[in-house]
Amino acid sequence: MPKKMSMTSNTGTCNLCEGVFSQKEILKHVRDCATSKCAGQKQEKMFLVNVNSSGFWLYIAASENAKLSDLDSFLRRIWLECCGHLSAFRIGGSSYQSGTSDVTSSKSMNFILKDVLHPGTRFEHEYDFGSTTYLALAVEDFIQLPADKSRILLLSRNNMQDIPCGVCGKKATQICVFCFGNKSNCFCEKCSEGHDCGEDGLLPIVNSPRCGVCGYTG
Ligand SMILES: [Zn+2]
Ligand SMILES: [Zn+2]
Ligand SMILES: [Zn+2]
Ligand SMILES: [Zn+2]
Repeated sequence: MPKKMSMTSNTGTCNLCEGVFSQKEILKHVRDCATSKCAGQKQEKMFLVNVNSSGFWLYIAASENAKLSDLDSFLRRIWLECCGHLSAFRIGGSSYQSGTSDVTSSKSMNFILKDVLHPGTRFEHEYDFGSTTYLALAVEDFIQLPADKSRILLLSRNNMQDIPCGVCGKKATQICVFCFGNKSNCFCEKCSEGHDCGEDGLLPIVNSPRCGVCGYTG
């Protein structure tokens, strides 16, 4: 694992209006913003879910009738997928795993959300049982949104802060997975070219808690 540094800023962007808000304001804003979009529209009641990992965060809306596998796919698309690793949700002592072909199995992700979640539920998601990325999820409440075909919608996500290159101090774009110790493992385009560890360990700096892990490129 590369060493952890703060990559996220304390602001986030609302995906409904593109507005930028502090992390403190964003939940209230997202609710207000969703309400304003609903005026005169056919509406759908969805779960409002917060997802957190190492300073990275998302607010998402999930249809009550979406399956755990839909939520898993969404998380893979936005934050996780590198090489098709297995994943699992852990909800109230039960484990629901991806890649379980038996859809009647109590361990598959074939469950619909309203059968396993309700407002107040805290649960976990793990992607890759080797170099695991752990996500903490919480169902905050219900939220009304204009009816849409999407089962899972992004409402807002954290912004990134600029990370200085460990050599020259310019904005870093690459992270080295082989660098350990106290030295910075982030480098600008130019400095990453001559980096001691070679170019095989360099991955792009992206807005995800899986940044710098396995082969994750965003
Ligand atoms: Zn907004
Ligand atoms: Zn991988
Ligand atoms: Zn540099
Ligand atoms: Zn290195």
